[in-house]
Amino acid sequence: MEDYVVRATADDGKIRAVAAVTTNIVKKAQNIHGLSPLASVAIGRTLTAAVLMSTFSKSPKEVQTIQIKGDGPLGGIVVVSDSNANVRGYVNNPLVYLPLNSKGKFDVAGAVGNGYLNIIKDLGLKEPYIGYVDLISGEIAEDIAYYYAYSEQIPTSVALGVLANSNEIIENAGGFIIQVMPGANDDTITLIEEKISSIPSVTSFLSQGKLPEDILAEILSEINLKIIQKSPCNYLCNCSQDRMQRNILSLGRAEILEIVEEQGGAQTQCHFCNKKYNFSKQDLMSLINEGL
Ligand SMILES: [Zn+2]
Repeated sequence: MEDYVVRATADDGKIRAVAAVTTNIVKKAQNIHGLSPLASVAIGRTLTAAVLMSTFSKSPKEVQTIQIKGDGPLGGIVVVSDSNANVRGYVNNPLVYLPLNSKGKFDVAGAVGNGYLNIIKDLGLKEPYIGYVDLISGEIAEDIAYYYAYSEQIPTSVALGVLANSNEIIENAGGFIIQVMPGANDDTITLIEEKISSIPSVTSFLSQGKLPEDILAEILSEINLKIIQKSPCNYLCNCSQDRMQRNILSLGRAEILEIVEEQGGAQTQCHFCNKKYNFSKQDLMSLINEGL
């Protein structure tokens, strides 16, 4: 099955909902970065959150970054999305390993540790919007929900799941976000809370062959669920020789000259897809002559 994301409303627009299946995205991240199962689950949840959150973009140009920085052995997670639900990301320690937690699950909170979550929304204007919250759990879904409640004042429920089997293979991944807009009444909110606490996990839904829209129906069918749009989501990097060139230019003239003298040329590698870019001594010299 191809990955996709479904946008929906319920209760005549007073509830905003989005759900996605992201199995291929997480598998691709695992392949690109050679991730341990624990690192796959941690970044997989974050990539899934980014897919879901990208549907709230206010402009087609919007680029959103989720940055999680903790003091645990994973180090940190960076995930970037565009408004078409293309996502990419990396973790600081791709080989992180910890024993399963007391519930027999991957110990994402232990891998992340204590720290903070940044959401950076760049709409192509001068200053990006930056939201910041301390991590409250490190399990990621709770932290994203807390970010929306605290930083954007939107009551939000977030579920993110990545299922890895005993052979370390990703079996499925997905998630949903449900948000309460102004005007929703308390009975609606109570109903949604009860539904969410009584349903199985996202990964068990997906294991049963259910689709993202089935998960939303399970929660919202009694309050006039309307599917608005179904669209693909992908792991996609947009790096290029040009972009890498700009990164090198940002080092400044003195440092580039030092690289030329000490190493001749330079090789840079994209954090998101590991593609390598080579710059010869001549490339660097003409960069200095033209760009600086
Ligand atoms: Zn790349």
